Amino acid sequence: MYPNLRPRRVISNESRLLFIVFKIELIEQGIKQDLYIFIDFWQRELKFMYKIGIDIGGMSIKAGIVKDGEIISRLTIETKIGSSDILIKDIENLVNDILKQEKIDISKIQTIGIGVPGVVTKDNKVTCVNLGLINEPIVEKLENTFKNTKIAVGNDANVAALAEYYYGSMKGYDSGVMITLGTGIGGGIVINDKLITGANGIGAEIGHIVIGENYYDCNCGNNGCFETFCSASAIINYAKKLVKENDSLIKDMCDSNLENITAKMVFDAYRENDEVAKLVVERFRKYLAIGLANIINFIDPDVISIGGGVSNANDLILDGLTDKVKNHLPFKESNICEIVIAKFKNDAGILGASSL
Ligand SMILES: [Zn+2]
Repeated sequence: MYPNLRPRRVISNESRLLFIVFKIELIEQGIKQDLYIFIDFWQRELKFMYKIGIDIGGMSIKAGIVKDGEIISRLTIETKIGSSDILIKDIENLVNDILKQEKIDISKIQTIGIGVPGVVTKDNKVTCVNLGLINEPIVEKLENTFKNTKIAVGNDANVAALAEYYYGSMKGYDSGVMITLGTGIGGGIVINDKLITGANGIGAEIGHIVIGENYYDCNCGNNGCFETFCSASAIINYAKKLVKENDSLIKDMCDSNLENITAKMVFDAYRENDEVAKLVVERFRKYLAIGLANIINFIDPDVISIGGGVSNANDLILDGLTDKVKNHLPFKESNICEIVIAKFKNDAGILGASSL
């Protein structure tokens, strides 16, 4: 009698118009029960039109009001590191300020979701040493202030995966894995609308799967982690090592100060056929293929999305990647997942957190 609507999904204005038409038809037919279902659903949609996503980073805390997958208002403050009480107070103020800015009442907010650069346990305790948080019950504390609003918290890489899953490069797929190539490598796994974070909140640490033997150790204490081969830092470290010993365009680009080398410089030099850059990029591509093959061996997802600063070199990353990945798989004739570049750069944190 009524269309197959999914209440979790965003309802557009066009859909609302459709509802009106259906309502009128139902009234004419006198089918009261269906009408009540519609009215209930309609009212719930109207009541909770907005979500808030909060992206906590080492330098700043960014908040956004999200409506129908769009960020309609933003506010950013500086992160004050050291006290969890100050952090909670700052989040509360940020939420109140952004609501005031947009003249929206808290009763219209369905969810306040928070992305943090740390570990989140199943009972929502957050540990992030860099922010001075150890087993911090962020959700519990914020629930005391925002009593009738759903509060949720998630790891920032997981949250970015949610943003891509609902609104970006992984939209429409049942299962997706996102890797974020930045200073390290973050991971997020979403299967059938559910984030897979593990029994103790330490799952999806894709950056620390061991994929080879490397000439330096990972910050985690292991040798050979994915992120020591394919993060921006890994690219920079290997470029530094080679530029010290060889002539390279990269030396000119960084004004002979190796501390200034960026991953972008390496990719730019690669496009100029620089021999050192070629070695660095080829090494990156080799290990990226091995890392992705590992993910496929574990999960065989519908899609893998590659994000983070390094993904700006999307043409160099995707070129021949699927074939390289297949070479590392035991079932070489089998189809494999789509490998795509993430849609969101800076907005993934807010959009993903709002989807928690
Ligand atoms: Zn590691």
